[in-house]
Amino acid sequence: MSTTGSIPIGAHVDQSDPIAEARAREMPHVQFFLGDPQGYQGPEFRYAGGADALRADAEAAGVGLYVHAPYIVNVATTNNRIRIPSRKLLQQHVDAASSIGARGLIVHGGHVNKDDDPEKGFDNWRKAIEAVDLKLPLLIENTAGGDNAMTRHLDRIGRVWDAIASAEQADLVGFCLDTCHAHAGGNALETVVDDVRRITGRIDLVHCNDSRDEFDSGADRHAGLGAGKVDPDLLAAVVRDAAAPVILETPGGAAEHRADAAWLRDRIA
Ligand SMILES: [Zn+2]
Repeated sequence: MSTTGSIPIGAHVDQSDPIAEARAREMPHVQFFLGDPQGYQGPEFRYAGGADALRADAEAAGVGLYVHAPYIVNVATTNNRIRIPSRKLLQQHVDAASSIGARGLIVHGGHVNKDDDPEKGFDNWRKAIEAVDLKLPLLIENTAGGDNAMTRHLDRIGRVWDAIASAEQADLVGFCLDTCHAHAGGNALETVVDDVRRITGRIDLVHCNDSRDEFDSGADRHAGLGAGKVDPDLLAAVVRDAAAPVILETPGGAAEHRADAAWLRDRIA
């Protein structure tokens, strides 16, 4: 990953046949959900042949796999009725993602309630990292919205990292930088790569998305690259400087993702 030309670009796809989705986009890796992104039912394999077949077929095809945890996972919250099932769901997704040989499991930073002390959320992150048996890299993603979010603003990301630093598995925790969320969350894209690296020491994955909304709007609405409110040069600069694998979570299917990848390749070359 030392030269910009080698930054691999993938996309978020449907989980039924991620290998076919990768082929349709001519991409070396893909990301998908395992089951319902809004539900507590636990992971589900929709690939014909199940987890073992997906692992073997992806390996044979040379397609890298990333799994996105359900959006409802919130290990930071002080609400037991959300935190406890969230931790269980996270473990289930770690197990499932590792069973298909995924390169990483992406999870949002979560939040505490409006009037809660954020310190409780940082400590809940520490407890989650101590409790969950991480079998693959867990990539914590920055989020766009909320006033009491754990990973919207840099200072909070720093506190989460401080809290989990003492956990035995801290080396398995990485960072996923979402460009739409950084912009809509109010973080300057001019400096965000250096700012995040100073805190986490690493950026493992970039979710490269444009934003339908203004800077610091707090809204999480992705747009196709060049079709939103993010400065195209800044978007490309973030990808170039982060020098990590990219996942497009932009609207549309294979044709749109191919166009977004071409747009990005033109600008990072
Ligand atoms: Zn994302």
